[in-house]
Amino acid sequence: MKTILTGIRSNSVLTLGNYLGALLPMVRLSNEHSANFNVNIFVPDLHSIISDVDGDLQQNTIRTLKYYLAAGLDVNENVHIYRQSRVPAHSELCWILNCVATMGELNRMTQYKEKSEGKSSCNVGIFDYPVLMAADILLYDATYVPLGEDQFQHIELTRDLAERFNHKFGEIFTLPATTREQVAFMEVEEPIRIRDLVNPEKKMSKSTAAENSKIMLDDEPFKAAKKIMSATTDSFEDIQFNFETRPGISNLLYIDALITKTPLSEVVKKWQGISRYGDLKKQVANNVSEMLVDFQNRMAEISDEDVLKLFEDGEKYANEVANAKLLEVQKAFSLR
Ligand code: ATP
Ligand code: MG
Repeated sequence: MKTILTGIRSNSVLTLGNYLGALLPMVRLSNEHSANFNVNIFVPDLHSIISDVDGDLQQNTIRTLKYYLAAGLDVNENVHIYRQSRVPAHSELCWILNCVATMGELNRMTQYKEKSEGKSSCNVGIFDYPVLMAADILLYDATYVPLGEDQFQHIELTRDLAERFNHKFGEIFTLPATTREQVAFMEVEEPIRIRDLVNPEKKMSKSTAAENSKIMLDDEPFKAAKKIMSATTDSFEDIQFNFETRPGISNLLYIDALITKTPLSEVVKKWQGISRYGDLKKQVANNVSEMLVDFQNRMAEISDEDVLKLFEDGEKYANEVANAKLLEVQKAFSLR
């Protein structure tokens, strides 16, 4: 059985952008495929500490898993849920792969360049986390790793490291699918990109300081509605969908389509040419706040104990699979 592997860092509360662009698509993929694939859903808590963590990391990790469950994740015997740091093989394989990867390769990673830009010093984790990612993937022979475009380079790196290793030691690692195959597997025309509500030229990001720019999944619904009502739009006379010329209003149409699970073309057809921006904002504000009420109610119904039980079961499985793979690698290097 092939393996799909996916995770979201647990540094802080997620935004509506993370929910629509990452969480919902992952849950959809898992639910569609978990009859015929292993689905590994892990919380990469070791990746979380490369940057500041808001609040308590263990609590955040539990909350992150609740997000998946509240977003509708079906858990069956093929779905394996675990915390990265509870499977020590990740760190150990990372070290070994550090001795396979080159400085030049890691220096070329765009994420590293972006995350370290302008900083007088940056921790080694920010430089090295793509190697930990490779370990996360290769330990489980994962084929599909649904990720945002910003992480595609790291999939290519994982393939390169696995290939180099296999060339030297024999076929120990399964190469993950190419990024082109990953995109085809995800069945998305283009990656979802929710815009910042104040500055719609940019994407919505949880690390943006301005509160009105982003909707957080724990925002009080009335507060979220207010943020939508005050979202930047444009000064044209009527509503048109065009991210180039009218990013703000297009973002609202797009959010509405995703939240109500209505084809974008239908939402656009309904509002196109209409001049009442306020009416559209009211509709989106209502839909967003209803979605939040519903989501937050579902979050509240899931206990920490339920989540910990899922983690503990999944960690038994993950340690077994990962340790077996690690042993093969250790033997290859004559560490065992
Ligand atoms: P940060 O500001 O800390 O980078 P972020 O909001 O960009 O936070 P990430 O942790 O970088 O979130 O990404 C988590 C997941 O959410 C990734 O899969 C990423 O592709 C997706 N994602 C992030 N922002 C958006 C967005 N605005 N629209 C759709 N998907 C998004
Ligand atoms: Mg980001």
